[in-house]
Amino acid sequence: MLSDLTTVLLIEDNATDASLIQQALANATDSRFKVEWVTRLAEALKRLELSPIDVVLLDPRLPDCEGVGAFDQVFKAAPDSLILLLGAADDETIVRTVTKAPVDTHWLPRALHYVNTRKATEHVLRAAEEALFEAKERAQVTLNSIGDAVLTTDLQGNVTYLNLVAEEMTGWPREEALGHPLAEVFRIIDGTTLQPATNPAERAIREDRTVGLAADCVLIRRDGFESAIEDSSAPIHNRLGQVSGAVIVFRDVTQSRAMAQKMAHLAQHDFLTGLPNRLLLTERLAQAIGLAHRHKKQVALMFLDLDFFKHINDSLGHAIGDRLLQSVAARLAGCIRATDTLCRQGGDEFVVLLAEIEQPHDAAHVANKLLNTLAAPHMIGGHELHVTLSIGISIYPQDGRSVDTVMQNADTAMYHAKASGRNNYRFFKADMNTRAVQRLMVEGNLRRALKQREFVLHYQPQIDLDSGLMSGAEALIRWQDPVQGLVYPAEFIPVAEESGLIVPIGKWVLREACLQIRSWLDAGLPAVPVAVNVSAVELRSKNFVADVAQILRETRVEARYLELELTESVLLQDADSSAEILDELKAMGVRIAMDDFGTGYSSLSYLTRFPIDVLKIDQSFVGKIDTHPDDAAIVSAVISMGRSLNQQIIAEGVETSAQLDFLRAQKCDTGQGYQFSHPLCADDFGRLLTPETGTPRQQPLVS
Ligand code: C2E
Ligand code: MG
Ligand code: MG
Repeated sequence: MLSDLTTVLLIEDNATDASLIQQALANATDSRFKVEWVTRLAEALKRLELSPIDVVLLDPRLPDCEGVGAFDQVFKAAPDSLILLLGAADDETIVRTVTKAPVDTHWLPRALHYVNTRKATEHVLRAAEEALFEAKERAQVTLNSIGDAVLTTDLQGNVTYLNLVAEEMTGWPREEALGHPLAEVFRIIDGTTLQPATNPAERAIREDRTVGLAADCVLIRRDGFESAIEDSSAPIHNRLGQVSGAVIVFRDVTQSRAMAQKMAHLAQHDFLTGLPNRLLLTERLAQAIGLAHRHKKQVALMFLDLDFFKHINDSLGHAIGDRLLQSVAARLAGCIRATDTLCRQGGDEFVVLLAEIEQPHDAAHVANKLLNTLAAPHMIGGHELHVTLSIGISIYPQDGRSVDTVMQNADTAMYHAKASGRNNYRFFKADMNTRAVQRLMVEGNLRRALKQREFVLHYQPQIDLDSGLMSGAEALIRWQDPVQGLVYPAEFIPVAEESGLIVPIGKWVLREACLQIRSWLDAGLPAVPVAVNVSAVELRSKNFVADVAQILRETRVEARYLELELTESVLLQDADSSAEILDELKAMGVRIAMDDFGTGYSSLSYLTRFPIDVLKIDQSFVGKIDTHPDDAAIVSAVISMGRSLNQQIIAEGVETSAQLDFLRAQKCDTGQGYQFSHPLCADDFGRLLTPETGTPRQQPLVS
């Protein structure tokens, strides 16, 4: 930009002319001039080398140079300066005026001022052009280096610009796309309906605001390739603020959408089996209920639980357990229609949703199919594994109208299927819930019973079959309920086990049995060892071994007076830790008995892992000795096995003399049952402890 003060180099050999011009410039009112005067071209060139000059006034007829040659040299030396020829060619009117009419000298400064202003304007214009070019270039480079595709349209919706990414994604080179309707270049459809999606640019223009695109949008490239996109469009305004077109920015979200889909799948499916999980099931059940309501149909929900899966998992390991679950899942899936849902609830629980059934019988049909499909063994890791199912069925709307009640009732029915022998199905019945409520009441009552000391122990003698004398006793709990009277363990032990109350109850039983032994001993009676039943929950409760030791210490009872009865399934639930606990108890001198032997599923070799002193043959075998030869054979096999393992054998539930004869003939050590005595209260039992009836089997027990 020119400064206020215009520098002028006057090259003029004629002193009069020079002075005239200087005078005119000095008198100018609308511009200020600083004039330097030289008379020779050589001198001028030297001056121009020193610093820039705004205007050069050149007399082309100089002594050292003439005409165009002079101009050329000045121009070379000062290309940015404005050069005016004084009195040169005819068209140089302004200057000619100056030189030819010296009186009119006020024109020279005006002319210079005018020329000067024009030059300044040109300068500004050039700078603006440059800035514009730079801005355009910057925008271009930016648009081509960002990852998003950018496309613009005019007001009519014809393409006016595409960046490189947009070219790639649409498959349209810019030169070809320009002027084409947007819908041709930017073809989008709704990913779900596959119908053409609304053009966002049109909306942005119409509504004059930034708009986003439908969530599930797919762009179809010119060659037909499809990519999931996410985009937005904004109106472009002209200088008057009017909408003149639109810009669409979009990006490929195929990968992130696939990832999102994968995440959604993971959230709704079970990792191990790939089946829908509880979350998805709940959703589908809600849908199914809605549809059934409208179509006046029914929905069946079946809760499936594998029987004794835990045994397999504990004994063969989780890897085998997992593969078994996968195998079961595959078989179950084969039994249902595509419109039904099989889901894994977690653990060994599956759920089948039959979306639309005509009648409950349809569900029974599927349940039978499910039970049958599991009948064949699963071959896994070289093992032949057998599993069965217990199934509970509840039907919408008869058993419940909400997702929660239908689920809850199927679960309740499943427990009943388990309780009634497993490997079967049960339809939900309203009184099942009454029973559930009863259970809750029992639990509350048990807490009270514990506090108010309503439990008592009865003792059932165990008889040495050789001598006919008592060799021990089993302590059996009873609940003296103030309202119901005497309640037997079958009624409340399961609830106590489920609620965890069995731990404090069991501890009470242990202490009570030991206190009783102490009091018999203190009374000078020949006390016998007493067997106490221990549940799984108790055995695994923290401090079980320490508690036993403490109770023995407190009551000053020798460990050999105490026997603990455990069932096979208790031991097998976690064989390693069971063996450890038993070893500790054994080290203390406590005897271990295996209760209800023969009803479990363990292999005999497995049992040798545990330090077992006593095998109690379950009463179900003993009771059938005289009627079922198979059971008689089992009993005699167990007796001889026990003998070879050096274990004492007790036959439970001996009720008849025929059974007793058989057991004696088989050389069974001990018998327990009504044939000898029912369980007795402590006082009655104490009366049996005389030197005549109670006698040591191996060693004197009286201390
Ligand atoms: P169990 O340990 O197998 O006890 C033997 C059961 O058979 C007892 O039933 C006993 O009264 C009964 N019984 C004895 N002789 C005969 C007979 O000749 N014929 C028949 N039919 N039955 C006979 P009870 O007392 O009702 O106990 C049932 C079960 O409750 C016990 O079976 C045991 O598993 C459990 N139980 C009992 N007391 C306790 C306890 O203090 N703690 C724990 N955890 N469970 C206990
Ligand atoms: Mg027992
Ligand atoms: Mg038993």
